[in-house]
Amino acid sequence: MAKLRRRDFLGKAAIVTAGAGAVAACGGPASAPEGGPAVVTKPRLNWRLASSFPRGLDTIFGGAEVFAERVESLSEGRFRIRAYPAGELVPGLGVLDAVQQGTVELGHTASYYYTGKNPAVAFDTAMPFGLNTRQQNAWLYHGGGLELMREVFADFNIVNFPAGNTGGQMGGWFRREVSTLDELRGLKMRIPGLGAEVLSRLGVTVQTIPGGEIYPALERGVVDAAEWVGPYDDEKLGFQRVAKNYYYPGWWEPGPTLSVYVNRTAWDGLPAEYQSIVQSAAAEANVDMISRYDAVNPGALKRLVDGGVTLRPFSDEIMTASRDAAFELMNENAAADAGYRKIFESWDEVRRSSFRWFSTAEQAYARFSFGGG
Ligand code: CA
Repeated sequence: MAKLRRRDFLGKAAIVTAGAGAVAACGGPASAPEGGPAVVTKPRLNWRLASSFPRGLDTIFGGAEVFAERVESLSEGRFRIRAYPAGELVPGLGVLDAVQQGTVELGHTASYYYTGKNPAVAFDTAMPFGLNTRQQNAWLYHGGGLELMREVFADFNIVNFPAGNTGGQMGGWFRREVSTLDELRGLKMRIPGLGAEVLSRLGVTVQTIPGGEIYPALERGVVDAAEWVGPYDDEKLGFQRVAKNYYYPGWWEPGPTLSVYVNRTAWDGLPAEYQSIVQSAAAEANVDMISRYDAVNPGALKRLVDGGVTLRPFSDEIMTASRDAAFELMNENAAADAGYRKIFESWDEVRRSSFRWFSTAEQAYARFSFGGG
């Protein structure tokens, strides 16, 4: 149905009879001989968005809804988008393929799910020991990052936009204390993506388990530890009932970006005004999601601690070894692939200079003011 809709738009539905002068006055992308058909500048569109996330994850799935609502509102109801949770149209991890192939016009997902297609897509989301939310936005919007990622996604017939961020995540739920590398070795942990690649280098047996199946796996001891997102999302999955040690930080996801994907062919067919609307709505979703997380995580954290959960920082031994393994991995990828290296170098330059800046005023303020909270 979405395919038909898009073809309708690109083919005949967008062509209506309108005065050429009126089109020119609206700054339309196309004109027509006087009295002939013209491409309408404000067509009525119904697009579908495939999310990688379940509806129950209201923070992240909610980002797609914020995006869709703003597009509809800014277009005065003419450009409508319906967001579908993972599994309704395509599987959660099938979003990139679906947008690339034009099965849907839009997707909302985390690019690092697709490192099997190109390891460099991870920079679009988060890298271990990488950028926090603000630093990630600085790199993407003003440090050349988005342009670099657009080059990568052009290979997939996709135009990508930052459209959400969870903020720094937690390290996850451990059934028993883990303080040393010896204790880490042999541990079975649910953790996907780059964090898994790094921890497997330290001897952890890593498993990727979908969100809905993590709790029973942790409860039965199929895994000894599991990471998900942070207090608000984790509380809903109930991990606190089966593991009492809640570790931090989630160094593999210090500020992960969620992305809106637009099928390139569909994008090219949009009037310039609608393209601007998509860009603005994605930027709003980006701000809205992190604001929402920052509003709901504190209450959830308090409830978890009041309920008997113990917060534990990862030891320096584990943090240092993890960071060494993470950069070993990134440097191997950079050595093996020029495209990856180009992005890594841009990202790493921003990381180094940004860390220096954040280590002054931001860090001094945080240490003094938050430390006593
Ligand atoms: Ca996570």
